[in-house]
Amino acid sequence: MKIFGGKRFLIYGDGASGRAARAAIRRRGGKAKIYSDLGGRFVEPSGEYDTAIISPGVAPTHPVYEFCRTRGIRITGEAALGFSLADCDIVGVTGTNGKTTTVRLLASMLGGTACGNIGYPITSAVDKNAAGPLVCELSSFQLYNADGIAPKIAVITNVDLDHIDWHGSAEEYYKCKCNIASNMRDGYLILGENVPIKALSTLSTGATVLHCSKSKVTGGAYLRDGYFCFDGKRVCAVDYCRLAGEHNIDNALCAVAAAKCMGADNRKILGALCSAEPAPHRLSRVGVFGGKEWIDDSKSTNVSSCLAAVSMVAESGRSICLIVGGRDKKLDFDSLFGALDSRVTTVIAMGESAQILRDSGVKLGRRVTVVDGLAAAVTAAASSGAEVVLLSPACASFDEFKNYAERGEVFKALAGNIDKK
Ligand code: ADP
Repeated sequence: MKIFGGKRFLIYGDGASGRAARAAIRRRGGKAKIYSDLGGRFVEPSGEYDTAIISPGVAPTHPVYEFCRTRGIRITGEAALGFSLADCDIVGVTGTNGKTTTVRLLASMLGGTACGNIGYPITSAVDKNAAGPLVCELSSFQLYNADGIAPKIAVITNVDLDHIDWHGSAEEYYKCKCNIASNMRDGYLILGENVPIKALSTLSTGATVLHCSKSKVTGGAYLRDGYFCFDGKRVCAVDYCRLAGEHNIDNALCAVAAAKCMGADNRKILGALCSAEPAPHRLSRVGVFGGKEWIDDSKSTNVSSCLAAVSMVAESGRSICLIVGGRDKKLDFDSLFGALDSRVTTVIAMGESAQILRDSGVKLGRRVTVVDGLAAAVTAAASSGAEVVLLSPACASFDEFKNYAERGEVFKALAGNIDKK
């Protein structure tokens, strides 16, 4: 169907989602041209356009926004395009942490397809006729241009500070998270336990809000007598959940609630929980080297994910050497050091944010060893007295690496080399 016949799209950002959007538009008869920065500078598009699809990587302060506004070009995003083209149900999942874990669990419970910010653009999933329902991970960046994003069920796993460098303020970040439900006229919005009221101040939705909780009986999913429960009924025993850590129980509760709202039966939910595998670089055990256990949590790029990791590792009672640092996202590291478990006996700070981390640690009575980068951090960790070394950086990886996955792989390789020296 040539629904975009005669329509001209400007795509800004030459990443996977921009290319997927271009393919989707061309298949439907539209014209689409991709532009992106050259040498860190705005490349002014030439020609006439009706609509701009701006990549989630492009911040709201980028000149392309002004360019489009002054010319009356409608601004949207690849995710919104995917929502408008899909002809199956879509569940949208956002949150500061736990999005990927929840999306994977839920897609498995529903027999659907995980897509979106997990690295499989929603427009690609639509064009490949991927099995529905689509379970779409939505980052706060994707929700900046949320017009047209209206999932059948929305999930906000939790909200803490993140990406303040991109959004400019906590309020703007919260607003984008709430945008997941702002176009919903009905359906359900599922809130994880750690979504503070202040993060919901701009929430306006036609969806029915359901809360999840580990400690209280709620209208959504909750725990009782060792069972995941929903709407007053048992779904399955918590022990079936293969994902370790309290934070993953929160994620599982969100997935259970969304699955029940989508009509999934309990056997499917149980099957997904007991076959769930953690995605790579999320609290993955690397091995024992130099007499210590090494754990790769490179995907932890903010304070709350780092605290969740520490609390899970601390459960074993062993002493921990924590490696943090990388590119700063203007997060509040005082809240990290203020809540750090006493079993963290050594803190090593690396990369661009090392000094800021050190200052914050010292203010809160913590000794922090500053090193240049990951290799030096691993060397320092190997000679620390701690029993476990945990890489959970609370920062982005881009100061030293292509992405968190590369940082995790390098960490694994460096740790694996310790006994060979
Ligand atoms: P996201 O897709 O939101 O980045 P992931 O599921 O990939 O979330 O997990 C990212 C990081 O956050 C990992 O370090 C993981 O251990 C941690 N994490 C996952 N779920 C939670 C949660 N509910 N609360 C806090 N941290 C979490």
